[in-house]
Amino acid sequence: MNILEQMRLELSEKKLFDQARNFAFNYIDRIEDMDVFPSEENIKKLDLFDEPLKEKSCSATEIINQLHNFGSSGTIAQTGGRYFGFVNGGAVPVSLGVKWLSDVWDQCGGLYLTSPINAKLEQICEQWLKTIFKLPKETVAGFVSGTSMANLSGLAAARFRLLKNLGWDINLKGLNGSPKIKIIAHEQIHASIKKTLAMLGFGHENITWIPSDNQGRFNTEALPELDDHSLIILQAGNANTGSFDDFNIICDIANKAGSWVHIDGAFGLWAAASKSLSYLTNGIEKASSWAVDGHKTLNTPYDSGVILCKDSEALLSALQATGEYIIYSEQRDPLLYTPELSKRSRGIELWATIKYLGKTGIDTMVTTFHIRAKQLEKGLQTIGFKILNDVVFNQVLVACKNDQQTNLVLNFIQTSGQCWCGGSTWQGKVVIRISICSWMTSEKDIEQTIEVFAKAKNLSENRPAV
Ligand SMILES: *Cc1c(COP(=O)(O)O)cnc(C)c1O
Repeated sequence: MNILEQMRLELSEKKLFDQARNFAFNYIDRIEDMDVFPSEENIKKLDLFDEPLKEKSCSATEIINQLHNFGSSGTIAQTGGRYFGFVNGGAVPVSLGVKWLSDVWDQCGGLYLTSPINAKLEQICEQWLKTIFKLPKETVAGFVSGTSMANLSGLAAARFRLLKNLGWDINLKGLNGSPKIKIIAHEQIHASIKKTLAMLGFGHENITWIPSDNQGRFNTEALPELDDHSLIILQAGNANTGSFDDFNIICDIANKAGSWVHIDGAFGLWAAASKSLSYLTNGIEKASSWAVDGHKTLNTPYDSGVILCKDSEALLSALQATGEYIIYSEQRDPLLYTPELSKRSRGIELWATIKYLGKTGIDTMVTTFHIRAKQLEKGLQTIGFKILNDVVFNQVLVACKNDQQTNLVLNFIQTSGQCWCGGSTWQGKVVIRISICSWMTSEKDIEQTIEVFAKAKNLSENRPAV
């Protein structure tokens, strides 16, 4: 039997899918007892993957066994309740189920002609997201891999529009010799914005960096004079503190001047979906473009970012490098709104997640992240930790009495297997950064986490100073 015949047989027998499903179910059942970060021993097992590429094919069963036996123990317990690293979300069960199903469909999501169902569901997600975030009705959405790509797309649209206002077609003439765009961002802007600005040909030295206030917000008083070739980049959800810029004040001034405001709302834009937290996003509707992730606060699986843009002509022109829209079909063609051509039909999971949760479900999930963050803040304060930020959303910044102790506590936590938090620096201090971003995180998980912190603190205090 040659390899093609063998694949045909495997597809019809489906044994390999049963095997994968059993292992997946086993993983789901173990998630709450797993080490939140793999032990050294389990990381060592990953060396088994070091092997030269062989001439002969390998059996499907062997591959799935290898992944389960030596790969799954090298994972982060991302879908459990005590992983607080970066701002990583969990996964809503139906979104995983729908991903499995639609992976079998293997749709190329670029065109209506390559996947009518994906084109349809993207269109529905576009409408629903506008409702959730209360954005202007002319807003269009592009479904990309994450907020990094969404930021790139939004800032490319801004570049197109602002240069067009100055009589310069960026797609024809490029950046050499172009009029200057005034870019204004604050020091606490996310690294993906800096990366994106460099990729778009705006050197970091040409950016007017605005100081941040003590919560990492744009210091509104430092806003320079704006005009119709200014681009202001704001943030809904600072990755350290979870703080939100003052959208109302800045957008009002920007709109009067004809400037473009882009909001990076990777995880924070979802505050708009919570009745008790939506005050944080007041005024976002006055901006021109917004970037947001499904895979963070909404808890879709990875590979789910969205660019929302009020100026569809600018977005489509920037991404298709032509002044006119190429119409591939009479329906909505997803590729017009993204940098990619072939792409995963990621709108399917996003649609399922939003439909499943409904407005109330999203509100409950987002509001609960905040409630848990407050629970953790209070618990950690009680046992003598300092909380360095105002816990307005889901992020908590923790420190001990000095950097050395904070590092000891962080190291204990990261190797405990009980929970996992990342480290960062905040206003010159070493901090432990906690992000509550998974629907699985329960009240009990927070209690357990506080116990781990207490143990770490005791150990760090009994240790002789070096
Ligand atoms: C995570 C994050 C990004 C980058 O998003 P990806 O989905 O990782 O590409 C950008 N901005 C903020 C504020 C973030 O938290």
